[in-house]
Amino acid sequence: MTGSRELICSEAICDSFDTNIISGNYDEAIIEETVMRDFIIIGSGPAGLSASVYARRGGMDALVVEKNTYGSGQIMGSPRVDNYLGLPGLSGYELGESFRQHALSMDVPFLEGTVTGIRRRDNRSWEVVLEDGSRHEAHAIIYAAGTTPRNLGIPGEARLAGRGIHSCVVCDGPFYRGKSVAVVGGGDSALDSALYLSTICDRVHLINIDREFSGNPGTLERLSGLGNVRIVTECTVKQVQGGSKLESLDLSNGRSIRVDGLFEAIGAVPNTDLVRGLAELDEDGYIIAGESCATSAAGIFAAGDVRTKLLRQVVTAVADGAAAIYTAAHYLKTVRRDRG
Ligand SMILES: Cc1cc2nc3c(=O)[nH]c(=O)nc-3n(C[C@H](O)[C@H](O)[C@H](O)COP(=O)(O)OP(=O)(O)OC[C@H]3O[C@@H](n4cnc5c(N)ncnc54)[C@H](O)[C@@H]3O)c2cc1C
Repeated sequence: MTGSRELICSEAICDSFDTNIISGNYDEAIIEETVMRDFIIIGSGPAGLSASVYARRGGMDALVVEKNTYGSGQIMGSPRVDNYLGLPGLSGYELGESFRQHALSMDVPFLEGTVTGIRRRDNRSWEVVLEDGSRHEAHAIIYAAGTTPRNLGIPGEARLAGRGIHSCVVCDGPFYRGKSVAVVGGGDSALDSALYLSTICDRVHLINIDREFSGNPGTLERLSGLGNVRIVTECTVKQVQGGSKLESLDLSNGRSIRVDGLFEAIGAVPNTDLVRGLAELDEDGYIIAGESCATSAAGIFAAGDVRTKLLRQVVTAVADGAAAIYTAAHYLKTVRRDRG
């Protein structure tokens, strides 16, 4: 028996408590009984939500644990998603929310909380520990915790984080209406962020360490034609200056520029600390897993941006969610057969 926030396990009981679980009002959902679920899905980004829908449709009992209220993953931070088939032109928030609503419409049970530990119970089950101390058990884990935006790691950055320095233009861009901002990076995320900011800010500096941009050439061409966008290449930010908020950037070309906001779009770090030592990771920290999403740890399946892959996008994350459940369902059969 675990602590007072232990949740129940029969599907019917969980369904009836969905509202409490989603709203974070756990107390009314407490039942002093330990439940062994089929799967616990960690993360409700595109990969985790897709997995939840596939599990539900397959009649499996899967709980989704997500740390952010109404979280639908990183795509929420995209101003506009034009490459998800059949749904062009939606904002990232709208697309993510449509995924989440799909899962909710199928009565997928959600639990709001941060996973802080994963432990093997025995050779057919795992225990997931949350920040509040509660513990939840399942035969398999669908690990879909995604990535976190990378920081520049320069002097002054940590002190001014959130006080002029950000990574999400959709969340924080509107605070800089009519002001001067910089975007650091050269990929799609940087180009899209600069384009979005050009529509609301007075001045946008796009700073890329390389001569070439890896992002969409069409977007770069549009940016090049905008009067309020200045593109600086082969340059980076060495230091940020400011008191209670960001005031200026010291660049590697020896110049300083006054800006009110800095948006960092320089890639991501995989959220894989929880599985380090359990599943094999590559040198960059991504979980080594192929299209089947099976990892080196029996019973842990990696879906979405957390796993080794060529292309980290919504469409590949959604595909992984489906593949992970397909593979995990076969694993579940072997677990049940062995159990007799
Ligand atoms: C600014 C930006 C723009 C983008 N634009 C596009 C685009 O136009 N088109 C496109 O296809 N892709 C785009 N992407 C990429 C796309 O967002 C990702 O590929 C996709 O979201 C990956 O989905 P995921 O489910 O693997 O991971 P994520 O979306 O990262 O979701 C992971 C989830 O896990 C949760 N989580 C993490 N750790 C824990 C924990 N310990 N406990 C509980 N929950 C946890 C997180 O809160 C999060 O909700 C963009 C990304 C960014 C940042």
